[in-house]
Amino acid sequence: MTRSKRPRSKAEKAAQARAVWDALTVLYPEAHCELAHRNAYELLAATILSAQCTDRRVNMVTPALFTAYPDAAALAAARQEDVEAIVQSTGFFRSKAKNLIGMAGALVDRHGGQVPADMDALTPLPGVGRKTANVVLGNAFGLNVGVVVDTHVARIAKRLGLTRHDDPVKIERDLMALFPRDDWTLLSHRFIWHGRRLCDARKPRCGDCPLAARCPLAARCPSAERA
Ligand code: SF4
Repeated sequence: MTRSKRPRSKAEKAAQARAVWDALTVLYPEAHCELAHRNAYELLAATILSAQCTDRRVNMVTPALFTAYPDAAALAAARQEDVEAIVQSTGFFRSKAKNLIGMAGALVDRHGGQVPADMDALTPLPGVGRKTANVVLGNAFGLNVGVVVDTHVARIAKRLGLTRHDDPVKIERDLMALFPRDDWTLLSHRFIWHGRRLCDARKPRCGDCPLAARCPLAARCPSAERA
Protein backbone atom coordinates (compact mmCIF):
# COMPACT_ATOMS: atom_id res chain seq x y z
CA MET A 1 0.00 0.00 0.00
CA THR A 2 1.25 3.50 -0.86
CA ARG A 3 1.58 5.59 2.24
CA SER A 4 -0.83 8.55 2.29
CA LYS A 5 0.90 11.86 2.90
CA ARG A 6 0.16 13.82 6.04
CA PRO A 7 -1.98 16.82 5.02
CA ARG A 8 0.06 20.00 5.39
CA SER A 9 -1.67 22.99 3.83
CA LYS A 10 -4.87 24.48 5.16
CA ALA A 11 -6.72 23.25 2.05
CA GLU A 12 -5.32 19.72 2.42
CA LYS A 13 -6.35 19.60 6.08
CA ALA A 14 -9.84 20.87 5.22
CA ALA A 15 -10.20 18.20 2.53
CA GLN A 16 -8.94 15.54 4.95
CA ALA A 17 -11.43 16.68 7.59
CA ARG A 18 -14.33 16.45 5.11
CA ALA A 19 -13.25 12.97 3.98
CA VAL A 20 -12.90 11.78 7.57
CA TRP A 21 -16.32 13.15 8.48
CA ASP A 22 -17.97 11.51 5.45
CA ALA A 23 -16.38 8.13 6.12
CA LEU A 24 -17.20 8.13 9.84
CA THR A 25 -20.77 9.24 9.09
CA VAL A 26 -21.26 6.15 6.95
CA LEU A 27 -19.43 3.92 9.43
CA TYR A 28 -21.11 5.14 12.62
CA PRO A 29 -24.45 6.77 11.77
CA GLU A 30 -25.78 5.90 15.21
CA ALA A 31 -22.78 7.13 17.25
CA HIS A 32 -23.84 8.58 20.58
CA CYS A 33 -22.74 9.03 24.18
CA GLU A 34 -22.43 5.56 25.72
CA LEU A 35 -22.67 6.73 29.33
CA ALA A 36 -26.19 5.91 30.54
CA HIS A 37 -27.95 9.00 31.92
CA ARG A 38 -31.38 10.59 32.21
CA ASN A 39 -30.41 14.20 32.94
CA ALA A 40 -27.46 16.58 33.25
CA TYR A 41 -26.77 15.66 36.89
CA GLU A 42 -26.48 11.97 36.05
CA LEU A 43 -24.29 12.63 33.02
CA LEU A 44 -21.99 14.88 35.02
CA ALA A 45 -21.59 12.25 37.74
CA ALA A 46 -21.10 9.45 35.19
CA THR A 47 -18.47 11.44 33.31
CA ILE A 48 -16.53 12.10 36.51
CA LEU A 49 -16.58 8.35 37.13
CA SER A 50 -15.43 7.57 33.58
CA ALA A 51 -11.89 8.86 34.15
CA GLN A 52 -9.49 5.92 33.61
CA CYS A 53 -12.49 3.60 33.38
CA THR A 54 -14.68 2.11 30.64
CA ASP A 55 -18.19 3.39 30.00
CA ARG A 56 -19.45 -0.17 30.44
CA ARG A 57 -18.03 -0.32 33.97
CA VAL A 58 -19.43 3.11 34.83
CA ASN A 59 -22.86 2.02 33.57
CA MET A 60 -22.71 -0.92 35.97
CA VAL A 61 -22.38 1.29 39.05
CA THR A 62 -24.47 4.35 38.22
CA PRO A 63 -27.90 2.72 38.69
CA ALA A 64 -27.08 2.10 42.35
CA LEU A 65 -25.50 5.54 42.72
CA PHE A 66 -28.54 7.36 41.29
CA THR A 67 -30.99 5.23 43.28
CA ALA A 68 -29.18 6.16 46.49
CA TYR A 69 -28.56 9.79 45.46
CA PRO A 70 -31.14 10.86 42.85
CA ASP A 71 -30.09 14.52 42.80
CA ALA A 72 -27.31 16.89 43.78
CA ALA A 73 -28.81 17.66 47.19
CA ALA A 74 -28.86 13.96 48.12
CA LEU A 75 -25.31 13.38 46.89
CA ALA A 76 -24.02 16.49 48.65
CA ALA A 77 -25.23 15.03 51.96
CA ALA A 78 -23.77 11.56 51.32
CA ARG A 79 -21.16 9.93 53.51
CA GLN A 80 -17.82 9.51 51.74
CA GLU A 81 -17.53 5.82 52.65
CA ASP A 82 -20.99 5.04 51.30
CA VAL A 83 -20.21 6.61 47.92
CA GLU A 84 -16.81 4.89 47.86
CA ALA A 85 -18.48 1.51 48.33
CA ILE A 86 -20.73 2.10 45.32
CA VAL A 87 -18.07 3.44 42.93
CA GLN A 88 -15.17 1.25 44.08
CA SER A 89 -14.98 -0.85 40.90
CA THR A 90 -14.41 2.23 38.70
CA GLY A 91 -10.93 2.77 40.14
CA PHE A 92 -9.50 5.79 41.96
CA PHE A 93 -12.65 5.45 44.02
CA ARG A 94 -11.59 7.61 46.97
CA SER A 95 -10.86 10.67 44.85
CA LYS A 96 -13.88 10.02 42.64
CA ALA A 97 -16.20 9.77 45.67
CA LYS A 98 -14.69 12.95 47.08
CA ASN A 99 -15.14 14.76 43.75
CA LEU A 100 -18.72 13.54 43.36
CA ILE A 101 -19.73 14.80 46.80
CA GLY A 102 -17.79 18.04 46.29
CA MET A 103 -19.34 18.57 42.85
CA ALA A 104 -22.83 18.02 44.26
CA GLY A 105 -22.15 20.37 47.16
CA ALA A 106 -20.97 23.08 44.76
CA LEU A 107 -24.11 22.64 42.64
CA VAL A 108 -26.25 23.11 45.75
CA ASP A 109 -24.23 26.07 47.07
CA ARG A 110 -23.72 27.95 43.81
CA HIS A 111 -26.35 26.79 41.31
CA GLY A 112 -29.52 25.90 43.21
CA GLY A 113 -28.77 22.19 42.90
CA GLN A 114 -28.85 22.36 39.09
CA VAL A 115 -26.08 21.70 36.58
CA PRO A 116 -25.18 25.00 34.88
CA ALA A 117 -25.14 25.02 31.06
CA ASP A 118 -22.02 27.15 31.06
CA MET A 119 -18.38 26.20 30.56
CA ASP A 120 -17.09 28.86 32.96
CA ALA A 121 -19.46 27.64 35.70
CA LEU A 122 -18.77 23.95 35.12
CA THR A 123 -14.97 23.85 35.08
CA PRO A 124 -14.49 25.13 38.67
CA LEU A 125 -16.54 22.19 40.00
CA PRO A 126 -14.51 19.44 41.73
CA GLY A 127 -13.51 16.70 39.28
CA VAL A 128 -14.67 18.68 36.26
CA GLY A 129 -12.24 19.79 33.56
CA ARG A 130 -12.87 21.07 30.08
CA LYS A 131 -13.35 17.56 28.67
CA THR A 132 -16.05 16.66 31.20
CA ALA A 133 -17.73 20.04 30.72
CA ASN A 134 -17.78 19.51 26.95
CA VAL A 135 -19.42 16.09 27.44
CA VAL A 136 -22.17 17.59 29.60
CA LEU A 137 -22.73 20.69 27.47
CA GLY A 138 -22.86 18.70 24.24
CA ASN A 139 -24.95 15.76 25.36
CA ALA A 140 -27.18 17.05 28.16
CA PHE A 141 -27.77 20.55 26.80
CA GLY A 142 -27.13 20.20 23.05
CA LEU A 143 -24.53 22.97 23.14
CA ASN A 144 -21.47 22.74 20.90
CA VAL A 145 -19.02 24.74 23.00
CA GLY A 146 -15.98 22.60 22.20
CA VAL A 147 -14.81 19.16 21.12
CA VAL A 148 -14.36 16.40 23.69
CA VAL A 149 -10.73 15.29 23.40
CA ASP A 150 -10.23 11.98 25.17
CA THR A 151 -7.53 9.40 24.47
CA HIS A 152 -9.36 8.07 21.36
CA VAL A 153 -9.99 11.51 19.86
CA ALA A 154 -6.40 12.58 20.49
CA ARG A 155 -4.96 9.42 18.96
CA ILE A 156 -7.16 9.37 15.86
CA ALA A 157 -6.85 13.08 15.14
CA LYS A 158 -3.08 12.71 15.15
CA ARG A 159 -3.02 9.48 13.13
CA LEU A 160 -5.19 11.06 10.44
CA GLY A 161 -3.03 14.18 10.24
CA LEU A 162 -5.66 16.55 11.65
CA THR A 163 -3.30 17.76 14.37
CA ARG A 164 0.37 17.52 15.23
CA HIS A 165 -0.18 18.17 18.90
CA ASP A 166 -0.37 15.95 21.98
CA ASP A 167 -1.86 18.58 24.29
CA PRO A 168 -5.67 18.10 24.42
CA VAL A 169 -6.30 21.85 24.45
CA LYS A 170 -4.28 22.32 21.25
CA ILE A 171 -5.88 19.27 19.63
CA GLU A 172 -9.31 20.65 20.47
CA ARG A 173 -8.39 23.99 18.95
CA ASP A 174 -7.24 22.29 15.73
CA LEU A 175 -10.43 20.22 15.46
CA MET A 176 -12.65 23.22 16.17
CA ALA A 177 -10.99 25.01 13.25
CA LEU A 178 -11.50 22.08 10.86
CA PHE A 179 -15.08 20.98 11.57
CA PRO A 180 -18.36 22.96 11.61
CA ARG A 181 -19.48 23.92 15.09
CA ASP A 182 -22.78 22.06 14.75
CA ASP A 183 -20.82 18.80 14.31
CA TRP A 184 -18.46 19.06 17.30
CA THR A 185 -20.36 16.82 19.71
CA LEU A 186 -21.07 14.16 17.11
CA LEU A 187 -17.49 14.37 15.85
CA SER A 188 -16.10 13.27 19.20
CA HIS A 189 -18.63 10.40 19.41
CA ARG A 190 -17.62 9.18 15.96
CA PHE A 191 -13.93 9.35 16.80
CA ILE A 192 -14.52 7.54 20.09
CA TRP A 193 -16.57 4.84 18.38
CA HIS A 194 -13.83 4.46 15.74
CA GLY A 195 -11.22 4.16 18.45
CA ARG A 196 -13.20 1.49 20.26
CA ARG A 197 -14.13 -0.52 17.19
CA LEU A 198 -11.31 -0.21 14.60
CA CYS A 199 -8.56 2.29 15.44
CA ASP A 200 -7.25 0.58 18.54
CA ALA A 201 -4.29 2.22 20.29
CA ARG A 202 -1.99 -0.79 19.94
CA LYS A 203 -3.56 -2.87 17.17
CA PRO A 204 -5.47 -0.70 14.70
CA ARG A 205 -7.47 -2.75 12.21
CA CYS A 206 -6.36 -0.74 9.19
CA GLY A 207 -7.31 -3.58 6.85
CA ASP A 208 -10.96 -3.06 7.77
CA CYS A 209 -10.82 0.74 7.90
CA PRO A 210 -12.41 2.81 5.11
CA LEU A 211 -10.01 5.63 5.96
CA ALA A 212 -6.89 3.58 5.20
CA ALA A 213 -6.33 5.21 1.80
CA ARG A 214 -6.21 8.63 3.47
CA CYS A 215 -4.38 7.65 6.63
CA PRO A 216 -0.63 8.36 6.93
CA LEU A 217 -0.34 5.58 9.50
CA ALA A 218 -2.09 2.86 7.50
CA ALA A 219 0.94 1.67 5.51
CA ARG A 220 2.70 0.81 8.76
CA CYS A 221 -0.23 -1.25 9.96
CA PRO A 222 0.21 -5.02 9.33
CA SER A 223 -3.49 -5.44 8.54
CA ALA A 224 -3.52 -2.61 5.97
CA GLU A 225 -2.92 -4.85 2.93
CA ARG A 226 -6.52 -5.99 3.05
CA ALA A 227 -7.91 -2.45 2.77
S1 SF4 B 1 -6.23 3.33 8.71
FE1 SF4 B 1 -5.66 2.38 10.70
S2 SF4 B 1 -4.60 3.98 11.86
FE2 SF4 B 1 -5.69 4.99 10.15
S3 SF4 B 1 -7.68 5.60 11.02
FE3 SF4 B 1 -7.98 3.58 10.09
S4 SF4 B 1 -7.62 2.08 11.75
FE4 SF4 B 1 -6.79 4.08 12.42
